[in-house]
Amino acid sequence: MRMMEEETTPLVIGGFTIDKSLLECKSIQRCTIRSCQAGCCMDGVWVDMYQATEILDHAALIAPFMPPERRDPDTWFAEAHDDDPAFPSGAYIGTTNVTDPSHPAGRTCVFLRPSNRYCAIQSACEANGRASWSLKPYYCCLYPLVDEQRDGAPLLILDEENSLYQHGAGCYEVSALAQPIFQIYAEETAFALGVGGYRELCERGGVQPRL
Ligand code: SF4
Ligand code: SF4
Repeated sequence: MRMMEEETTPLVIGGFTIDKSLLECKSIQRCTIRSCQAGCCMDGVWVDMYQATEILDHAALIAPFMPPERRDPDTWFAEAHDDDPAFPSGAYIGTTNVTDPSHPAGRTCVFLRPSNRYCAIQSACEANGRASWSLKPYYCCLYPLVDEQRDGAPLLILDEENSLYQHGAGCYEVSALAQPIFQIYAEETAFALGVGGYRELCERGGVQPRL
């Protein structure tokens, strides 16, 4: 891939500095729920308080997609904080974890459906004609990419240092085809940069956009 290896100035698109981990070519492809068993959902996720409120505002839409014993919205979130400016509202809260003996980890995010390992929030949106990711927590949509603040500016990076990534929930399988990371995770890249930003990255890398 001709690209940015020769370049020394940081590549900035859509307000994000693009980390070199996104530009590397790897012989991997996205995994499937059948193989990963939604391993990345075993710990739950931190959610901006604004987005948690939005999810709770749609509790009646989401709850039917959860097992009956999990449908009380008062049990969906815990551990509120207000000390991380990386969250747009400045405040954030975690989704709760529940025991799930059917999952390889033995526990999962409260929103993970034991029946098919899909996210109840996403399932509810799709069943009700909404965009798949319209209520899904930001960091769930972005994974296995993540944004970090570096030197006061957002950096878009592959989340390789996450313990989930390192312990079998990295969202990849071995593939015969080597592709740039931003192309393997085109949807997540476009989620952060916008489709225009993703296409700009493809143009810079000399690859055909698939979105
Ligand atoms: S993001 Fe990747 S690892 Fe997580 S559930 Fe989806 S396919 Fe599996
Ligand atoms: S909110 Fe959905 S996608 Fe995010 S960790 Fe929970 S089940 Fe997984």
